[in-house]
Amino acid sequence: MTVKPTTGGCLCGAVAYRIDGLLDPIIGCHCGQCRRTSGHYAASAEVSENDLTIADRENALIWYRSSEKAERGFCGHCGSNLFWRQTESGRVSVGAGSLNDTHDLQMNRHIFAQFKGDYYDIPEGAEVFPTDDTEPSI
Ligand SMILES: [Zn+2]
Ligand SMILES: [Zn+2]
Repeated sequence: MTVKPTTGGCLCGAVAYRIDGLLDPIIGCHCGQCRRTSGHYAASAEVSENDLTIADRENALIWYRSSEKAERGFCGHCGSNLFWRQTESGRVSVGAGSLNDTHDLQMNRHIFAQFKGDYYDIPEGAEVFPTDDTEPSI
C-alpha cells in the first residue's frame, strides 16, 4: 500500500485523476467483461471514492453501465479504460495501466482465473481468489 498522492489519466489527457489515500494492491481480473474492455485482462487497484479526484476537462469521461450493479469509466476521446465501480460501494477500481507512477505497486492476486484466455497462464505463485463457477456479469 502507498499513501503518497498518486496521479494518472488517459492516453489523450482529457481525463486525469489524483488519489490521495490508500491504493490497494493490484488485482488481475480475468472475467469476460474485463477481457473485452481491456483487450487482455484487467489490472486495477481499488481506492476509496472519497480519495479520488477526477479532472474531466472536456466531458470526455463516459460511464458505461456494464451490469445492474456496476459501471466502467473510459475516455470517450481516446478509449482508455480507467475505472470500474460497483454502484454505492464507495470504492472505485483504477486501471493500473493509467497510473503515472507504479513504482511501489505489485500485482500478485488474480480473480475469475477460470475464465481467463487460453493463450496465457497465471504467474506461478500468484494468489488466485476462489470464486464461484458462474461467469460474472460485473
Ligand atoms: Zn483520453
Ligand atoms: Zn472482471
